[in-house]
Amino acid sequence: MKKSTDKPKKRIGGKTALVILVILLVYIAAVTLAALVIDGRHVRFYMTAPQEMNLECFEAYQEPGIYAVTTGKLFGEGKKHLHVDVSSDLDNTRLGEYTVKYTVRYLLQDYSTERRVQVVDTVAPVLELKYVEGYQASWFTGYEEEGYTATDNYDGDLTDKVESYEEENRKVYTVTDSSGNTTTMVREPLYIYTEPEITLYGDSELYVNASLSFEDPGYYAQDKMGNDMTGFVQVSGQVCPYRAGDYEITYYIESPTGDSVSAQRTVHVLPIRNPDTVTPDSKTIYLTFDDGPGPYTGRLLDVLAKYNAKATFFVTGANPKYYDQIGRAYNEGHAVGVHTYSHNYRSIYSSEEAFFQDFNAVQDLICDQTGSYTKICRFPGGSSNTVSNFNPGIMTSLAGALTDLGYQYFDWNVSSGDAGETTDTDTVAENIINGCAGRKASVVLQHDIKDYSVNAVEQVLIWGINNGYVFRALDASSPNAHHGINN
Ligand code: ZN
Repeated sequence: MKKSTDKPKKRIGGKTALVILVILLVYIAAVTLAALVIDGRHVRFYMTAPQEMNLECFEAYQEPGIYAVTTGKLFGEGKKHLHVDVSSDLDNTRLGEYTVKYTVRYLLQDYSTERRVQVVDTVAPVLELKYVEGYQASWFTGYEEEGYTATDNYDGDLTDKVESYEEENRKVYTVTDSSGNTTTMVREPLYIYTEPEITLYGDSELYVNASLSFEDPGYYAQDKMGNDMTGFVQVSGQVCPYRAGDYEITYYIESPTGDSVSAQRTVHVLPIRNPDTVTPDSKTIYLTFDDGPGPYTGRLLDVLAKYNAKATFFVTGANPKYYDQIGRAYNEGHAVGVHTYSHNYRSIYSSEEAFFQDFNAVQDLICDQTGSYTKICRFPGGSSNTVSNFNPGIMTSLAGALTDLGYQYFDWNVSSGDAGETTDTDTVAENIINGCAGRKASVVLQHDIKDYSVNAVEQVLIWGINNGYVFRALDASSPNAHHGINN
């Protein structure tokens, strides 16, 4: 007989277990959910850096610090850091305010917080000065910009925005970007030559006697670095050495850039004092002969010597052959004065310079023949001439100049008429005698290049001597018989 040990077992069926499990799970879930609801479970963010921050443009944004945990009333904070989603429209290439958004999804719900990020530019532009090899600016030439560039990390090329100015011996450059960041650079020393100083030789107040020439005592110019700048000095203002007066001379250096330095000198041209005119005590005749020497001068001197009479010769340079008569006249006690070298009115009255050039030529001729210069002269045509009217005022100017220079110019108060009115010796003599008669001091105009005039002299001498006249040579103090100036 077969013994069965198998007893029918009472077993819990699979379905039943599943149901129990589900019930259990639902129970747990319900309890958990209830606990969570009662707990008020939610997400809490912790920012470990300020919620508002600046970010330098172009720098990568790096999360400065945030984490999130769960928290509730009953169970407190969880330790576990939740996953935080970060989203942002932040563009670090554009300045502005951006928002970084942090989101945590927890229990089917989104939790979020924000951080404000200001993208800023605090980096100043980069300013680079260029240096041209071998270039050296001087004060005189001015500084010519060698160039520069300015770039900004945000604005880009700012070269056009660079501002610069010069001061002392340097140039300052500044550039500011759109965010207000400024860069300053200095170029120095700018100049190898600094501002020069002009130093005058001689006094800045100079007193000189009137003369036919003035030589400036000179000047030099040097800059602070010892460079000789004399060659750059310009002079304005002129001294008229033959006219008494005060003259300003300005010495200056002007740079093409418009800077200038200067020094001043005042030249006081002092008139040479002429001797006072002395009227002779006795009846005096001053025979004067213009336009010689010439072929008849020797004969004239013989006649004068015969009567021991003295006369005056206002000479020209027209006849070199007879220049020696000038020396003879002088040595025989006659006066020699300047008339004119060329006797060309058009030329000598064209300017003061032309007049004195002609005048000096005669002075040199006289000095050659007599050993000294003369102090007396006679204007061609006389001081009252109107042939000089083509140059208005020239006679006034020349008469003043001659006076300032210490010359005495003579006109005449007796005309012989030998200059065109007559060619008759007797008439010439008659004119002179009639002119001198009753006159205390006669200055007679004759021309020793006219033989008929020279021939009249002996008659005049005889008449004069017989009538108590003395024939004298002119000197600077003699009566000058001025006509008065018409131009
Ligand atoms: Zn003349």
